[in-house]
Amino acid sequence: MLDFYYSTMQGGKSTALLQRRYNLTSIGRRALVMTSSLDDRFGVGMVTSRMGLQCEAQLYTRDSVFAMSDDLVGVDELLIEEAQFLTAGQVKQIHKNLCTDHGLRVACFGLRTDFQGNPFEGAASLLALADNLHEISTLCLCGAKATMNQRVDSKGSPVHDGDIVEIGGDSRYRPVCPKCFY
Ligand SMILES: [Zn+2]
Repeated sequence: MLDFYYSTMQGGKSTALLQRRYNLTSIGRRALVMTSSLDDRFGVGMVTSRMGLQCEAQLYTRDSVFAMSDDLVGVDELLIEEAQFLTAGQVKQIHKNLCTDHGLRVACFGLRTDFQGNPFEGAASLLALADNLHEISTLCLCGAKATMNQRVDSKGSPVHDGDIVEIGGDSRYRPVCPKCFY
């Protein structure tokens, strides 16, 4: 079973991952947490929520191969943070090798689109292949549902150009509704 939990920046996906891990652990299930090596906001190999919770995580890179391994023996559910950074090939590996061939439950948490409104590679594949899609919704400053990620400069003005991946500055992004985004 493959689940995709998607939200905007600052939308609560790390909190949702940590809550899911807590729920599994509290009923005696074993969860393994992985996150992208691209995300070093809170130290390499950690998933941290703004609400103060955190846990250790194994790192994956764009070269990691997702297949059954010793690390996954005895694991009931694999939780993957920053799943938008997975490649399309890696999502297929997860879907086939882990979920289908081995019956492992995998929950991926990530963004759908970048600051230019284009889908991330991993998110596009997860939206196509996941058995269950879960939206974690948050609010735009105007009060409407936020579905987009707006990059802003140090003065808070929208930025439309630059590298797609600019990790480290959460204050450089804000969740917005389409009307405010465009
Ligand atoms: Zn708005």
